[in-house]
Amino acid sequence: MQVLTTIEDFRQAKARLAGTWGLVPTMGFLHEGHLSLVKRAKAENDHVAVSIFVNPTQFGPNEDLAAYPRDLDRDLSLLKSLDVDLVFNPTPDVMYPPNYQTYVTVEDVTKYLEGASRPTHFRGVATVVAKLFNIVGAERAYFGQKDAQQTIVIKRMVADLNMPIDIIICPTQREADGLAMSSRNTYLDAEHRQAAPVLYRALTAAKNAFDQGERDGDRLRSIMRGVIEAEPLAKIDYVSAADATTLQELNPLPNPPPSTTNPSSGEGAPSPQLSPIEGEGVLLSMAVRVGKPRLIDNFLYQDGQWLTGQIVS
Ligand code: AMP
Repeated sequence: MQVLTTIEDFRQAKARLAGTWGLVPTMGFLHEGHLSLVKRAKAENDHVAVSIFVNPTQFGPNEDLAAYPRDLDRDLSLLKSLDVDLVFNPTPDVMYPPNYQTYVTVEDVTKYLEGASRPTHFRGVATVVAKLFNIVGAERAYFGQKDAQQTIVIKRMVADLNMPIDIIICPTQREADGLAMSSRNTYLDAEHRQAAPVLYRALTAAKNAFDQGERDGDRLRSIMRGVIEAEPLAKIDYVSAADATTLQELNPLPNPPPSTTNPSSGEGAPSPQLSPIEGEGVLLSMAVRVGKPRLIDNFLYQDGQWLTGQIVS
């Protein structure tokens, strides 16, 4: 495994290894979530490159850029044990030299959820990911479902700018109690760590209601809100039940639903509870402050099934 810190060195090292490439962009302080992406990339490509770069442009002025956890030695030994070929670990100056002035803005889907709380975040994410795609030139790039809106923004950018790369989304890896793995979990003290699975419990409660037929966006959001508000150490930033493509919030259906006919079950037959969101994507998501860290999590209902992630035992 080689570790490269400049773009020229990275490109030269990559040119020496023929075959297909998978890229896993990270900000380091690696955990099983990151490693699951690396393993998938290893399985699907001849070679794997992992970038470790705490990208300053995706942090707001009052966010945790300086305090963001870092442990390069540990990261490198984990990546070496997975037989990663190349690690790209540039400094901010390499990525944003003096007189840097070009940014990628994805318009609509960046306005909601994370984008509402963090207005410059996705501009930084899209810009650094576009740069990494250009530097690495991989066939495939791997991202976690944990950052659901990020996956939507990146897929939109790749489609809109005709980038020749496949985007692969991997399941959220979770601790035994459901807490989504995150580098920021390190900010949790023991008491707040106990409280942190409240996000998973809230998502599970809304999923259960959906599975029992609940299709009212307001009610799904209030179920999640209720679970979080019962945890005194948790403070909601947002809870959302949104269309998984547009990120528009799902709104309540009239109750009772208007009577309609269902052509497939015969003329004039009463409709089974037709739902405007059945069969389309629904993203249940939230951001919740649990003590110091602001935690995010989501469940995605897509193609008739739930993607809730995997508990890592
Ligand atoms: P980060 O280092 O936080 O920028 O994350 C790098 C990549 O790892 C992103 O694509 C994340 O979505 C992904 N990731 C982070 N946490 C998890 C997790 N718990 N499960 C799966 N992927 C994750």
